[in-house]
Amino acid sequence: MRIQPRQSKIPVGISQCAMGEPVRYNGGHKLSKVCTQLLSQCFEYVPLCPEVAIGLGIPRKPIHLLVDRAGEPVDAVRVVGVEDSTVDVTAPLRDYADSVVPQLQPVRGYIFMQNSPSCGLRGVRRYLDNGHGIDSEGVGLYARRLQQHFPHLPMEEVGRLNNSELRENFLTRVFAYDAWFRYVEREDVDAIDAAVEAEAEKVPSRIARIIDFYTAYKYLLMAHNQDATRELGRLLADAKSMTEDELAFAVRGRIMQILSRPASRKDRTNALMHSQGHLSEFLSKQEKAELQQLIEDYRLGHKPLSAVLTMLRHYLPRSPNSFIHSQVLLAAEPAELGLCDFH
Ligand code: SF4
Repeated sequence: MRIQPRQSKIPVGISQCAMGEPVRYNGGHKLSKVCTQLLSQCFEYVPLCPEVAIGLGIPRKPIHLLVDRAGEPVDAVRVVGVEDSTVDVTAPLRDYADSVVPQLQPVRGYIFMQNSPSCGLRGVRRYLDNGHGIDSEGVGLYARRLQQHFPHLPMEEVGRLNNSELRENFLTRVFAYDAWFRYVEREDVDAIDAAVEAEAEKVPSRIARIIDFYTAYKYLLMAHNQDATRELGRLLADAKSMTEDELAFAVRGRIMQILSRPASRKDRTNALMHSQGHLSEFLSKQEKAELQQLIEDYRLGHKPLSAVLTMLRHYLPRSPNSFIHSQVLLAAEPAELGLCDFH
């Protein structure tokens, strides 16, 4: 089984001000060129501004997160006016998030503007009723509500996407989340090998597709977290007590969790060596030595990942082994789309 690449851009939600639209409280915007010029090559954006949508207007009086005391849980906040705390937009923001859930069902990632009491994903300043800042443990209320509706949806903040490593990680998660819905949930039959699809009766069952998905992602997952990948393998081997839906939810959640940890050079090297192991018998002594040296050079930081992947892919056609052909680690997406550097 091979998960086919997507033929169209991936729908991704985004804070509207990051698109350069003047929707901020002060009538300004926060254009992100990384989002609008780079990632737009593979993302089709769904821009939303919750504060405008609930009728606060442009310009508007600023709002912030209010808590009764330090250390309150993330959901124990109200969103109120900075100047007048009787202006409370907690319920309207929450209701708005609930109302856009159907519209966001097709999105495969969400990019939020940082430091916003509505959109911030982490570290948003929280205040006491007397106006004193008390901590930075807040999450924007709209973003928090969407986290609850879409627990596995890849989310990231605009500013963090300027970092190539974090950008690569977000892309990897979005591609995986999208592939899951296209392949396992069959929201896009093109994701299933055309040859398999042609013989309708041979389309794998959903359980088989879940196992296929894990198998295809195995080496990529190992590059992110070897122990958690093995644990997921054990869960799949011993899943008889779970319903199909429970299994799908659990596996998707574990996969997204594993991928959220950036791949280390050490773990990637290990996954590359496993890939090499599947090809060794088809290589000459010299080719084998060159490939081994290249992987070692990558491990030491002397060669980029792309050099190893290019060589592995060059030898791939020699192997008849469907397992190694299916490995997403060796596929050309997402890091090689030129959207981030290699690590
Ligand atoms: S951060 Fe969110 S609420 Fe604030 S202007 Fe941007 S999109 Fe609107």
